[in-house]
Amino acid sequence: MPSEPFPTPDPTGPLRLPVTAPDAEREVVELCRDLLRFESVNRGGGEGHERPAAEYVAAKLAEVGIEPTLLESQPGRTSVIARIAGADPSRPPLLVHSHLDVVPADASQWRVGPFSGEELDGALWGRGAVDMKDMVAMTLAVVRDLVRTGRPPARDLVVAFLADEEAGGVLGARWLVDNHPGLFAECTEAIGEVGGFSYTVSDDLRLYLIETAEKGLAWMKLTATGRAGHGSMISDDNAVTALCEAVARLGRHEFPLVLTPTVRVFLGELGDALGTEFDLDDLASTVTKLGPVARMIGATLRNTVNPTQLAAGEKVNVIPGEAVAYVDGRFLPGQEEEFLRQLDEILGPDIRREWVVHDGAVETGFDGALVDAMASSLRAEDPIARPVPYMLSGGTDAKSFSRLGIRCFGFSPLLLPADLDFSGMFHGVDERVPIEALRFGVRVLDRFLHAC
Ligand SMILES: [Zn+2]
Repeated sequence: MPSEPFPTPDPTGPLRLPVTAPDAEREVVELCRDLLRFESVNRGGGEGHERPAAEYVAAKLAEVGIEPTLLESQPGRTSVIARIAGADPSRPPLLVHSHLDVVPADASQWRVGPFSGEELDGALWGRGAVDMKDMVAMTLAVVRDLVRTGRPPARDLVVAFLADEEAGGVLGARWLVDNHPGLFAECTEAIGEVGGFSYTVSDDLRLYLIETAEKGLAWMKLTATGRAGHGSMISDDNAVTALCEAVARLGRHEFPLVLTPTVRVFLGELGDALGTEFDLDDLASTVTKLGPVARMIGATLRNTVNPTQLAAGEKVNVIPGEAVAYVDGRFLPGQEEEFLRQLDEILGPDIRREWVVHDGAVETGFDGALVDAMASSLRAEDPIARPVPYMLSGGTDAKSFSRLGIRCFGFSPLLLPADLDFSGMFHGVDERVPIEALRFGVRVLDRFLHAC
């Protein structure tokens, strides 16, 4: 494979803009701290409350003359959208999206209050610090600065701060795409979450993982029915037994390894960076060589299912007529049909399967001017940066936007300390974001929005 498939920046190439966002670098910390203090917790099942955080964001946009639109799918489930004029209005706009909701946090486990926004050891702590109020703050800081200083982005921007991402975007991105697609009309490309962060390989090499693919989401409800009756009788048609058998078969099933284009490039790049060659014909042993990232990368090599919830019965001596399980399934790009085929074969004909949330996989190539702009912006701020594409095993709002034909990338740039367990921060205890990482992100985004 080529050792350097990504263009090396030409030092005689276009002039790099001087960093002219000192105010944004200062402001981003304040904005992020404020945002972390909103308890915009999404408990799933429609239960969440983004309104106060959305109003804060809208006020910060309005303060500099950007006109925000607030939209609610349900009372309190608020998203904010705004359009910012670029230098070349003839070009299609770029969508820059982030989400306002966060997953719950159990305060008793945390070193600081999860909604305190406390500054400790050079980081801002709180639920949402990396997922993803950091990007909300960085986007706000940069666009406020662009407008205040009269330095328009290269093209129009549509900035979206969304509700309900943590429950599949049903009341946020997905609702907007279904009900207000005009807001994103003409947008051809988008940047959003879980990409653009650094992975330090050595003193002279840092990989920046840019998300170009996402597994599809298949959250499902399984129902077994049987004959209800007294717990003391012989029962050959017990819903709990049937459900448990099906769930156990599913949970133990290992889907076959499949190498998708994104993961192929990623493994090639990683192997090159680490000075080892991964045997792509022996993916199983390749995965074990990946060390700490094996769990994350391993999940991008195959379809997966994890049973997560069970419910049946009300009393120990009453056989219920119905038993229910919830399962979190994820399938690779191009693998949906095969995934469903295997799934139904494992479940058998007697288990009813319904979608809780069902969303397609996403994949785009790692090429084009926008990718070049990401690469050059990263390299301008970190000379040892090497951007590589990767697949996210989870899902983001990119799924909804890609349904509109928008090319979606995970690009929320952060230069992270080498010893930070970044993937462990997502939905984790003591979630925090280094302040220097936020400032770096602002500088990169500022450059990027002028190069995009
Ligand atoms: Zn997120």
